[in-house]
Formats: sequence, C-alpha cells, structure tokens
Amino acid sequence: MLIALNKDKKRVNAQDCIDSNNKTTKYVCPSCKQDLVLKKGTIKIAHFAHKKKSECISFSEGETEEHLLGKQLLFEMLRKNMQEVYLEAYLSDLKQRPDILWKTDEEKIAIEFQCTTLNIRRMKERTSNYKRRGYKVIWILGKNLHIKNKLTNLQKTFVGITDSGIFYSLEFDVSNKMFTVIYNLNSINHSRRIDYKIKSWPIKSKDNIIRFMRNSNGLNFEVNNFPRYNLSIRDNYIRSNAYYSNRATKLFMEKIYQNRDSLISIPIECYVTLPCDWMISSSNMLWKYYLLKFIQLNSKNEFTTKELKCVWEKLITNKLLILSDFPLVSSDVLDTPLKEFCNFLVKQNILKDKGDQVWRINKRPIFYRNERAKYKQIFLCK
Ligand SMILES: [Zn+2]
Repeated sequence: MLIALNKDKKRVNAQDCIDSNNKTTKYVCPSCKQDLVLKKGTIKIAHFAHKKKSECISFSEGETEEHLLGKQLLFEMLRKNMQEVYLEAYLSDLKQRPDILWKTDEEKIAIEFQCTTLNIRRMKERTSNYKRRGYKVIWILGKNLHIKNKLTNLQKTFVGITDSGIFYSLEFDVSNKMFTVIYNLNSINHSRRIDYKIKSWPIKSKDNIIRFMRNSNGLNFEVNNFPRYNLSIRDNYIRSNAYYSNRATKLFMEKIYQNRDSLISIPIECYVTLPCDWMISSSNMLWKYYLLKFIQLNSKNEFTTKELKCVWEKLITNKLLILSDFPLVSSDVLDTPLKEFCNFLVKQNILKDKGDQVWRINKRPIFYRNERAKYKQIFLCK
C-alpha cells in the first residue's frame, strides 16, 4: 500500500516519507490500525507493509510493483487537474478501499487498477457494492488482463458501454505509461476470436483520459456503422464441424438431433458470426438454430418483438443460451446479439421490419433434406 497514517493520524504517502531507520516514526494501517513498516528499496517503489502477517481485509500483502506504481501514476495524473482525489481511501461503510477515489461536483468515482486475476463473483460483488452506495466504478486492467485476440469470461466482466452504445475496456501499461481504450469489439468467427479498435494516450496527455473517464461520450470514437456479418458460410460450415469436441458444440449437436435435425438439415443462417457473438458463452449456433426454428414453425406470417424476446428469454432460462456476466453494462443491452440477428435476417430477406415492433416473415428459413441441396445453396452464397 502507498498510504499510511503517521503518528499525528495524518495520511501520508510512502513517496514523501523519509526512511530514517528511526523506530520512533510510527506508521499505522488506515483500516486495521496495525503497525506498518516503510519499505524504500531499489526494486519496488516506496510503499508500506504490515509488520506482522496480518489479516487486514483491505490490504493483502504482496502487491505487485505494477499495481503500486500504476495507482501512484494514475493518482498523480488526476491530482494535477482535480481537487478531490484520494489514494487508497478506506470507505468504512462499504469496507472497501478503491485504489483511487475521485469526487467531482456531480459524482463519486471509484477507480480500481486490477492487475491480477480475480474471482468473477468477487468482481461483481465489489462493483455492486460501489453502485449501491452511489459510486460510479471504473476498472482499469493491468498487463496480465490486457485483451489479446479472445475474451476470457473475466475480461468480459470489465467491459463497459458508452451512452452511445459502444462496448469498451480500459487498460493501463505501466511500463510505457500508456492508457488505452479498447472498443468496437467484434467477433470474427466461430473460434471466438475477436477484433477491436484501440485508442491510446500517454498518461501525460491527461486531458483526454480524464475526459473519457468523466464522460465516455466526451470523445468521438470512429466506429463501424455497418456491422460486419460474417457469413463466409463455407468456412464456418467446415469450422463448425471441426468444433465437435467442446461442450458447447456437444450440446448443440444433441439438441438438433433431438429435433430431428442434423448438420446437413440446419439453415445456413445458423453459421453467421455476428459482431456481438462474444457476449455469449454457450454455442452461438444453438440459439440461432432455435430462433430460425421459431420463424420456420410460426403459423402466422408475422410476429412481434415481444414474442421473439420470449423465445430468447426461454432459451436463457433453459440454459440453452448462456450470456456472460456484464456487471458494468445495463441489462437492456444484453440482447444486442438478438437485435443483430434480426438485422441480419432482414438482410437475408427472411424478415421484414414492419415497424411498431412487428416482423413479417418474407421467406421461411430453409431446412435441407440432403447435402446436395445445401451445398448448392452454400456455393451460391459464396
Ligand atoms: Zn491493515
């Protein structure tokens, strides 16, 4: 930790303390009030540690250099511009200690610089505690959690959304002092790879970072206005066959057989990769299959968005569709993949958006009787 109470009960930062080796200078932990030692070595930046092996809940020892240095850098950046910024402030009502607490005229913001892996349940708990007490929470990820070409379930929990509906994640690289916004996350194919855009600033150019933290819409992000639907059917068809082995695909196979379907009979639209498929952790072919089935078996020629949402919710209840956890995102955007699928089916001329939440079925999805008919269709689509 970087902050301790000195003998006058004043909060002091380890960077400003002199290592006098003088036993009279006493520091105590702001939360458990146990004795601390000041550590000023050459390896880590100056910090405090509990004298005895402690059970202090708000500070686990063994903070990494990355974490210590990162929160100090973020703190300095904010402090230069802002009045009320606190490092390691202990919030006794929550029994939580955000790395940085930042009070503006409008809001209280807790900033967490997360460098090590964390239990998802714990992450959700901390986030909801903050929210319940009226804090906005900003999670910034350290190097071990930086996003590469797939999203882990833990990484997904840190995804936020701007008011204009852009999903993003924040990263800080302490070694080169760069702050990065990862945004416009897109699924590429069935192997769960993603791509995204990146905006990076050196921590020195603090204006942009602060503007983004205060209002994620405060910056103009260039996004793909036209989502890419990947229906390179041939590739996806072949790939989907190669993914038998995992549990999600096994369930998919089981369910389509129970419905007297097979990899040959299912409509080609099952194979599409939607931009937000990454929000789902179960098989992305399975829920699409059920929705296509719903459209195929519909006795009328139209249905409402509400009926469609009912099918979607039922899939969730029956665990045929598993959404990942998104504690930072409001629940009304969790059906983004469903909306994308509808738009895709409009493009495929299967549905027509009649407005007023009504969809007309233009053309029933095709369930194939033999492989030849399907191949013909696949090669027609290219
Ligand atoms: Zn303590």
